Amino acid sequence: MTEAAGSVSGTRRLLRRLRDIMAGSGSAQERLDRIVRIVAAEMVAEVCSAYVMRAGEVLELFATEGLRPEAVHRTRLRVGEGLVGGIAATARPLALADAQSHPDFAYRPETGEEIYHSLMGVPILRGGRVLGVLVVQNRTLRHYTEDEIEVLQTIAMVVAELAARGDLVNPLEIAQSQGGGMLPVRLVGIRLNPGLAVGPAVLHRPRLLIRQVVAEDAAAEIERLRHAVAAMREAIDELIATGRGLGAGEHRDVLETYRMFAADRGWVRRISDAIRSGLTAEAAVQKVRDETRSRMMQVTDPYLRERFLDLEDLANRLQQHLSGQPPSAVSAELPPEFILIARAMGPAELMDYAGRRIMGLVLEEGSPTAHVAIVARAFDIPVIGRVEDATSRIETGDTVVVDGDHAQVLIRPSEHIRQSVAATVEARVRRRAFYDTLRSAAPVTRDGIEIKLLLNAGLLIDVAQLSATGAEGIGLFRTELPFMIRDTFPNVEEQTDLYRHVLDQAEGRAVVFRTLDIGGDKVLPYLHHAVEDNPAMGWRAIRIGLDRPAMLRQQLRALIRAAGRRTLYVKFPMIAEIAEFEHARAILDLELARTAKEGRVLPASTKIGVMLEVPALLWQLPALCERIDFLSIGTNDLVQFLFACDRGNPRLADRYDPLCAPVLALFRELVSQAAAAGVPLSMCGEMAGNPIEAMVLIALGFRTLSMAANAIGPVKTMVRSLDTAAVAGYLDEIGDRPDHSLRPKLEAYARDHGILL
Ligand code: PEP
Ligand code: MG
Repeated sequence: MTEAAGSVSGTRRLLRRLRDIMAGSGSAQERLDRIVRIVAAEMVAEVCSAYVMRAGEVLELFATEGLRPEAVHRTRLRVGEGLVGGIAATARPLALADAQSHPDFAYRPETGEEIYHSLMGVPILRGGRVLGVLVVQNRTLRHYTEDEIEVLQTIAMVVAELAARGDLVNPLEIAQSQGGGMLPVRLVGIRLNPGLAVGPAVLHRPRLLIRQVVAEDAAAEIERLRHAVAAMREAIDELIATGRGLGAGEHRDVLETYRMFAADRGWVRRISDAIRSGLTAEAAVQKVRDETRSRMMQVTDPYLRERFLDLEDLANRLQQHLSGQPPSAVSAELPPEFILIARAMGPAELMDYAGRRIMGLVLEEGSPTAHVAIVARAFDIPVIGRVEDATSRIETGDTVVVDGDHAQVLIRPSEHIRQSVAATVEARVRRRAFYDTLRSAAPVTRDGIEIKLLLNAGLLIDVAQLSATGAEGIGLFRTELPFMIRDTFPNVEEQTDLYRHVLDQAEGRAVVFRTLDIGGDKVLPYLHHAVEDNPAMGWRAIRIGLDRPAMLRQQLRALIRAAGRRTLYVKFPMIAEIAEFEHARAILDLELARTAKEGRVLPASTKIGVMLEVPALLWQLPALCERIDFLSIGTNDLVQFLFACDRGNPRLADRYDPLCAPVLALFRELVSQAAAAGVPLSMCGEMAGNPIEAMVLIALGFRTLSMAANAIGPVKTMVRSLDTAAVAGYLDEIGDRPDHSLRPKLEAYARDHGILL
């Protein structure tokens, strides 16, 4: 005797049979018919029925074993109507031994169900959305067990797969239905670009179906491939030409690399070989794409994965050209504004949508250095990456909130949340407009103290923010980003070119370049680097620079050349002792001497600084200050080392607050020592860009703060409302308290004294 579903072996057998149905042939309707038949038999139920959601919140009987066949496609229930409608409305399973005596039972004479007493039903769910209801019924007063409910839920997942393919009901029809049966869902990922947006979701190009796999005429297929490749290359050239509207920037490098891939003969040759083995052009592209994908799965290096993603993007694009549906035509039916959802995406694919208004981007893959993220930043689109199952849990037409600041996606938020997000977006727009009006206003406190507000930058496109924000210069140019988006180490000419562009675009404003801070988690594919247990405290920054002096020398040479006759500002990251600084400085002197010997122009002057990020340096300040031109505090690292608290660990994000007595005492000491030595002091960690923290820093004596572009407006607003002496007095009062955090007191103070935070 075979065991019924509900036992482990019975469930396994049932799932095996369902899998065969899913993998086998036949229309979606035929498969569903087979599924209900098998489920009824295996679950020893007289009835098994599948109801599928149609537009307008209606559940339609799509298939049944046991009810009258003429009821199929005739019996319809509104969400909330009857027991089945109730299961859809609540999205919860229901099991009743005596269903007919339940007050919600809705009798439908055409079904002939009056003879069945017990009923068990589960929602057919996908991504929190109810796509239908799966029901079994028995004549007897049967008490269904928890195990049986679980089995039916598992079967419902298979049916959901079938329904989600869009073969039963057009997915747009489902997407149009609103309200009941759709659960709000929150997904988390990683922040690739901050910002907030709400709008309808559009799933990035569902995969194309390949209708014919085996080719009849290989030569004709090769010819088709040749045409499609040519058309694709032409379209990419055009795309890049359009992208010039974005100005110069690293996103251009990304696109150029992409163009290079498109022109790669090896890739096209692999596709041609697959055609010669008997495949159609589409199937050949698919085969090469799948091979690439399986190779990609083995690659752990995020940078290399990005390269593979570019190739995958190209394969998709090529298939569209082969199918006669080039990407621009696909986007014709898009809503005017939308949130784009994709498993992964190449930079050029994002550009395809550029004519439309993409309000946000959600990716299942992606890293901060993803090419698509870099291009998205150029467009100022909030992006969240590594959102698991985003493409299966979000459907086209769903309302989605992309909260780039908190790396979360809200799917089908309640009306209440939707309104509050829309209000926040609106308030941000208004606030941004207000900050724009402050662009040329001086950052001077109410008691007349001038504050220098500088920009933190890392890409050429950031430099444009100088005039957009009215910042006085760039206090930190992180040089590593451009290195991370290339295939090979950029040579001196390429580096010179980039730094010169940065300086030219800064139009005379000072730019402080920080030498490479790679290592740790910022690994370059072309630099051999062993995996470390503790990368933040590992072989990184100046440690690599001193161990591999050729790299540092080349960078310094490029900086000197780029400066021309201008003043060159350089700072070294992660210096832990005077000897390291002296060593780095000697390398710079060597390069200055070399430049002079070559007869090239020298910078008008060279200002050399140090990032204070390693606590050991705190006890070497007098000797250090004798040797440097400026000191820049990197609180992101300094605070993580002071508290032994990983800055990237979200579980520790709120564990310590830098607004506490020990940190304030440290800053006081730094201000006093720097002033005594006559060394300009600045702060370029995240703290400087947070209005309340900036308020404290200024009250402690800091006069130069460097921050992300979007922080300039809020900090300037705070500065202009600040009475420095009064806050300094308040800090004298409370600064020594051993509280976990002084923030609540400081916030209250600001509120009571009209300081705009
Ligand atoms: C810092 O550590 O505060 C800093 C500015 O450097 P980064 O964030 O690049 O490590
Ligand atoms: Mg740092």
